[in-house]
Amino acid sequence: MRKCLICEKGILEKVEDITLEVEGYIFIVKGERCSNCNEEFPFEEETQRTISIARKLGVWPEPLKLYRHLSKSGKGLVFRIPNDLEKQLKLNENVEIAITKVGNKIVIEAER
Ligand SMILES: [Zn+2]
Repeated sequence: MRKCLICEKGILEKVEDITLEVEGYIFIVKGERCSNCNEEFPFEEETQRTISIARKLGVWPEPLKLYRHLSKSGKGLVFRIPNDLEKQLKLNENVEIAITKVGNKIVIEAER
């Protein structure tokens, strides 16, 4: 049994129903889910398989999930946008973003 890397409280349980959504395509993959925070960790080979399928479909050719640490700045936490996403989405400091909380996920959208 492995402990969750995110909350460090839960136990990772094997599941076969993790959904990965890539550009509107839904992929069901095997992996592990935390019993405490519900964070999902698709198995590496499953993720790779999904990426190769996604590539064939012409959707997102990048890794599907990136793990980042937040950094502390003043009283708040700062999330740094990965460089490749910055380029792909043509982000800069003048772009306004919308932040939505969806369950335990945070969705960041660039406003145009
Ligand atoms: Zn957890």
